[in-house]
Amino acid sequence: MSDTADSAHSTHFADLGLPSDLTENLASLGYHQMTPIQAQSLPHTLAGRDLLGQGKTGSGKTAAFGLAVLGRLKVERFRVQSLILCPTRELADQVAEELRRLARQMHNVKILTLCGGAPLGPQIHSLSHGAHIIVGTPGRVEQHLGKGTLSLKDLTMLVLDEADRMLDMGFQESLDAIIEATPPQRQTLLFSATFDDAVRPLAESRLRQPVTVSVESVH
Ligand code: ADP
Ligand code: MG
Repeated sequence: MSDTADSAHSTHFADLGLPSDLTENLASLGYHQMTPIQAQSLPHTLAGRDLLGQGKTGSGKTAAFGLAVLGRLKVERFRVQSLILCPTRELADQVAEELRRLARQMHNVKILTLCGGAPLGPQIHSLSHGAHIIVGTPGRVEQHLGKGTLSLKDLTMLVLDEADRMLDMGFQESLDAIIEATPPQRQTLLFSATFDDAVRPLAESRLRQPVTVSVESVH
């Protein structure tokens, strides 16, 4: 069973109960009001709920999951707590860039990107120094798990961004292998532009009583 979030949520970031340094930084980025997908998802995701989010390009999904990731992060615990999977290196780089902007006022938050097409050596070296948040593509993340250079045993939040595209690109097996390496009690957020027969089994098997948010408008 899943709940559908209503639209009666506040659109003010200040009402989310996020640390004030995070909220003040949002204003400096020109983020004054939440977009609908942010307003409808953040109260639930910050409270620990799983989420199934559908919203077209430009609806602000990155900050929707990014603020949930940052708001629930325990900075003093230097372990990989969040993993964000994206279909392509370009998208992973964009997500990491947005996360770094959002986390600008949070001290010592370590975000690493792990994408295919980049040499393994420097990634292994970076991983040996630790990270709080990994942003990556499924193939490369799976490769690091297989080599033992990445552990997800302390993961508390998994984000599948553009899940439909990841499945279109043939990442089903990598996604399964990665998810099997995470603790079952993790929080899972799944975003997809479409919610068809390809995505539904993934959502139904991997999300627990998710809140469902679907927005059409951009702002
Ligand atoms: P999506 O992933 O849904 O396609 P993005 O997360 O890439 O969308 O966001 C689209 C654009 O909107 C980005 O330039 C981002 O910086 C901007 N944006 C996101 N949230 C807000 C907000 N609350 N206020 C103003 N701009 C925002
Ligand atoms: Mg996006």
